[in-house]
Amino acid sequence: MRRITLLTNPDVCNLRCPLCFLNQRKRAFGMGEMKIETARRAIDRYAGMGPLSPDGLREVIPSTMGEPLLYTYFGELLDYCRARHLPLNLTTNGTFPGFWGTDAGMARLLDACSDIKVSCMAFDEESFGKMMPGITFDRWRENVLRLLHLWRQGKGTVSLQVTLSKMLASKAVEILSWAESVGIKRIKWNLPVFLSMDSTLRKAYGLDLSAVRELREILVSKKVRCEGSLFFDGGEKCRFLGEEVWVLPDGTEETCPNPERRFGDRNSAGAKCEGCLLLHPFA
Ligand code: SF4
Repeated sequence: MRRITLLTNPDVCNLRCPLCFLNQRKRAFGMGEMKIETARRAIDRYAGMGPLSPDGLREVIPSTMGEPLLYTYFGELLDYCRARHLPLNLTTNGTFPGFWGTDAGMARLLDACSDIKVSCMAFDEESFGKMMPGITFDRWRENVLRLLHLWRQGKGTVSLQVTLSKMLASKAVEILSWAESVGIKRIKWNLPVFLSMDSTLRKAYGLDLSAVRELREILVSKKVRCEGSLFFDGGEKCRFLGEEVWVLPDGTEETCPNPERRFGDRNSAGAKCEGCLLLHPFA
């Protein structure tokens, strides 16, 4: 097992982004926070072979839903992984709450994480209020710049994770230019994933295939590695089975990350492998 994702605090966030699965489904995940003992047990189970073994655990990913830096035991989790030479792979909404927003906190994150991806769903003040309500564009940008400044003096990498909704597509080139100018080395350009329960969201925020093709052509850079689901072709083989495991707050394990199965309607077509939301984003 290469990576495990711990859903540490799926219901705890300081933003209210409309494309978040919890907003899409309009109700909480409902399992509360993961106990630190549950997190430790999961890590121990897969870290057994050690990070240097060819089959050993390489990374731990804290919560992919909810803001991981608001997890009550985030510091303990970080120390536990560090003691086992296991890097965290962190995706954060860019608010860097509390201690994690100080220089000391950011330096500690950079020291413990193989990569810190900062989410980006808007790129001007007005659309931040709609797409990432709870943080201003200025504040978000300042946090990224401070993180980059500290990163130059430390280790780890800093990336952007951009959700390419209809609102943001016209800003994509500007984001890429900005990333080049401030020294970001990688951007994950992801297409939004829509659960089946609210078809209005796809209409409001989804890109059509021609827009996707155009973005694939123009989002090319010699300075910034451009990756993400924007570049995936539909119908690929599942990339997840056997490589990764997802641990829910109560310790239950899943081997499939399809959000329709986890957060949406398990009986819908998008929850099945043939119609998997992750492999067929336009289905
Ligand atoms: S639903 Fe998608 S992610 Fe899950 S096992 Fe099937 S193909 Fe893989």
